[in-house]
Amino acid sequence: MPTATEHPVASGDGHRRREELKAVYEQAQGCTKCPQLAATRTTVVFGAGHADADLMFVGEAPGANEDQQGLPFVGHSGKLLDRLLAEIGMARGDVFVTNVLRCRPPGNRDPQPSEIDACQDYLLRQVELIEPRVICTLGNFATKLLRADITGITRLHGRAEVRTIGPRAVRLYPLFHPAAALYTPRMVETLREDFARIPELVALPEPPQPEPLEEVPEPEARPEPELAVPEPELAIEVAAAEREREQLGLF
Ligand code: URA
Repeated sequence: MPTATEHPVASGDGHRRREELKAVYEQAQGCTKCPQLAATRTTVVFGAGHADADLMFVGEAPGANEDQQGLPFVGHSGKLLDRLLAEIGMARGDVFVTNVLRCRPPGNRDPQPSEIDACQDYLLRQVELIEPRVICTLGNFATKLLRADITGITRLHGRAEVRTIGPRAVRLYPLFHPAAALYTPRMVETLREDFARIPELVALPEPPQPEPLEEVPEPEARPEPELAVPEPELAIEVAAAEREREQLGLF
């Protein structure tokens, strides 16, 4: 799995996460859930960064550069993301970066609802394994998906809220997509102001986690008690079934 930098100390738990994340990565590599995307992509862009990151970014979908290199945010938007991270004293190796979609939509068209739906299990597994404290959604697609709501980014950016994503409660922090800011200096300023709050959000105590779902054991299949003598109603049903089988030429 491509990582921006390797974590220097792999604790036992960190090692387990990395292994499980690698297994999800391998699974995603052969994904054909979206036939059009599977046919047109060069690579599956799984996501990259620190497997134990407290901070995760979720963008929209790979573009041409990402599709070529197999890594998220390596084009112009990625350069801006790197700059904004550096301004708060962070680098790619401190965070995990992924997208709503893991394959490039042809011509950079918008992700389709069926594609978002098909790809979301990978994102939920990433959140479950990495266990970030803060997830920054970049732009409308990630924000709408992870808030399960149609409210747009213009109203929501810069407002953190606790949300449950899969099995995990996180601080969700919607931000404008860097691509939207590339040619709009005022929006870069807004992004910069919103980024400035990230370190304090990461430093907050972890939100209380939901109770893990209890595994309900499968009930054991009990053999049907044998009826020595068919009951009258049952006998009628059996006779009817036999007639039907005969009519159908079954034995
Ligand atoms: N834009 C995104 O949303 N994701 C990328 O990985 C690159 C550009």
